[in-house]
Amino acid sequence: MTLVIKAREDAVDDSTLKPAARAIRVGGVVIFPTETVYGIGADAFNPRAVRKIFEIKKRPADNPLIVHIAKLEDLEKLVKTIPHEARKLIDAFWPGPLTLILPKKDHVPKEATAGLPTVAVRMPAHRVALKLIELSETPIAAPSANPAGKPSGTDGRHVIEDFYGKVDVIIDGGRTSLGLESTVLDLTGEKPRIVRPGFITREDIESVLSKEVEIYVPKKNEKPVSPGMKYRHYAPDAEMMVVTGDEREKLKKMKNAVEKMLWEGKKIGLILFRDDIPAELAHLERVENCVIKICSSDERLAASKLFSTLREFDEDGVDTILAEGKEERGLWLAIMNRVKKAAGGKLL
Ligand code: AMP
Ligand code: MG
Repeated sequence: MTLVIKAREDAVDDSTLKPAARAIRVGGVVIFPTETVYGIGADAFNPRAVRKIFEIKKRPADNPLIVHIAKLEDLEKLVKTIPHEARKLIDAFWPGPLTLILPKKDHVPKEATAGLPTVAVRMPAHRVALKLIELSETPIAAPSANPAGKPSGTDGRHVIEDFYGKVDVIIDGGRTSLGLESTVLDLTGEKPRIVRPGFITREDIESVLSKEVEIYVPKKNEKPVSPGMKYRHYAPDAEMMVVTGDEREKLKKMKNAVEKMLWEGKKIGLILFRDDIPAELAHLERVENCVIKICSSDERLAASKLFSTLREFDEDGVDTILAEGKEERGLWLAIMNRVKKAAGGKLL
């Protein structure tokens, strides 16, 4: 049995969240909203509880979790040292969508870090999440609430569909505001390095640290530093491709590919990062087997809509999704990172 609790960010109260906190304290699994995506969490210091998350998500055992905290003292319980750079970033971005990787204290269970000597920590900017952690009186280890490989859960409705009956409690807080996962920044090397782009951009971090920040790109055959990087992720059931090129090329490629696939009898989804359907594709709007979704030219809006849009395509039963590529600057870097992974790297 799963207890479903409705909780609104603007009206958080202890009594509503107490059953969820109790579940965490006794080693249960709770799904909760954050400002980025939903998390599926357990007491970070309870190895058995953490193992349940891997089983429920079918997450590969070598993909570590992010530990969520509500106050800075919790960070001291988890990491060996808090370097000066971490403090600066914490001042600037916490609570918020930035995850820091630091050397872990010995007593942090290997289950939460997939055996790594480091731990990923974040303080979410969501009052329900913060209250849950505070009432649970322990840091909560939580990856994104989605079956492994699928788009991250950004709506209470989605996580109920995917996890009802599999976890102890689901806290339904409606749609998450940002809709894209946190930036993961590795602070254990010589230079700060983004191992997963996210809502806080490289430019944001560089301006706080006044130094260059690297973006980690795994080389072929190299063991990735962030194990999550090696898996196909965020993938809808439909096959997916990213359409690259300048404006003219992109529209031409999309038009030709859609027409060819329609002719082959396929149902096509188009995801456009703009605000209107361009004239070149307007004729497709009336075609029954072509579903066009406008996902905004605004990077913040596009980020918030991406995962739910991918999910809708599956509900529409499309066979192939063509996603418009964008120049990878600012938040588009993170959006395109998710889009390309969802496509399994397939470009058109
Ligand atoms: P998720 O919470 O599902 O968004 O996944 C957490 C992400 O953080 C995954 O991509 C992990 O690979 C990454 N991560 C967590 N802990 C570490 C760590 N200690 N070192 C490197 N990457 C990590
Ligand atoms: Mg995830």
